[in-house]
Amino acid sequence: MTELSLTLDERHTADFEMIGNGGFAPLTGFQGSADWERVCAEMRTADGEYWPIPITLATELECEVGDTVELSSDEGKPLGRLEVKEIWERDARSEAERVYGTTDEEHPGVAAIYAEGSRCIAGPIEVDALPDHEDAFMRRYKTPAEHKADFEARGWKKIVAFQTRNPIHRAHEYLTKAALETCDGLFIHPLIGKTKAGDIPADVRMRCYEVLMENYYPNDRVVLGVKPAKMHYAGPREAVLHAIVRRNYGATHFIVGRDHAGAGDYYGTYDAQKIFETIDIDELGIEPLMFEHTFWCNECEGLASNKTCPHDQDAHLFLSGTKVREMLGNGERPPHEFSRDEVADILIDAYKED
Ligand SMILES: [Zn+2]
Repeated sequence: MTELSLTLDERHTADFEMIGNGGFAPLTGFQGSADWERVCAEMRTADGEYWPIPITLATELECEVGDTVELSSDEGKPLGRLEVKEIWERDARSEAERVYGTTDEEHPGVAAIYAEGSRCIAGPIEVDALPDHEDAFMRRYKTPAEHKADFEARGWKKIVAFQTRNPIHRAHEYLTKAALETCDGLFIHPLIGKTKAGDIPADVRMRCYEVLMENYYPNDRVVLGVKPAKMHYAGPREAVLHAIVRRNYGATHFIVGRDHAGAGDYYGTYDAQKIFETIDIDELGIEPLMFEHTFWCNECEGLASNKTCPHDQDAHLFLSGTKVREMLGNGERPPHEFSRDEVADILIDAYKED
């Protein structure tokens, strides 16, 4: 018998890791056609549990049902194996339409599933090892079970999780702290997997989070972790996935901002908040906390949102993403009402290295 083996690409390696470390519970492997159909149609697995985005393994590997395929990471590390239960074709266009709400190949998540192809193999995985990461991430790396144990040891009952794929500037620092005011602990959980071109690299962002942990967050009430998953940019459906993952890591509450997990203007500003109105929160097992866009207001002399600030927009400090990138690229710190100097300096250095 010849041994079948498959080297996963970076995105499938991330999926393997999230299934393998328990972050994607209740998933125990790559999904087959029955799961795929119900996930696309109803945001549920074939067994009826909430699951918003299909996690499938597209490959042209020649194999048969009943085969065992040895899997290794994109960097060649042996990870474990998949027992082939089904070989099937997915309709990528239908998945794009139903899950991403668009069939536009310019959408980064849609482009990724189109590029993967449609022939999939499905089945449970057996995990020998998890993929390796840079030291900067491993220092903060814990599995969902380890984080749960840590939260328990700290005596936290009400834990709010914050998903991010950007550096944290003052506006997000403010909303995480506003959430912490009514919770026992804050779990900052940046995504370190594959993002799209133009996003700030994860190691640079990690330095930004570390400097905030050192200087501006109370370390006995804030935990910084890393989430080794990829982005789908699926907007509302991905907000639900992000919530499920944080539930698996032990959080009880989850921050959903405006334009959560979106790309371009494929989704409405509040779509990622509205989708939770269609979901049974008790069954989901984690409660979303909805936040407005936050900003510095010169009249309030503090951070605020349209919910809390009565002043005109003229009083609000607004800097576009393009403007901020331009300033940092020129070695210029944005005003500290916008960004902590320590964070600005890390980003300025990163732009210089570019
Ligand atoms: Zn104001």
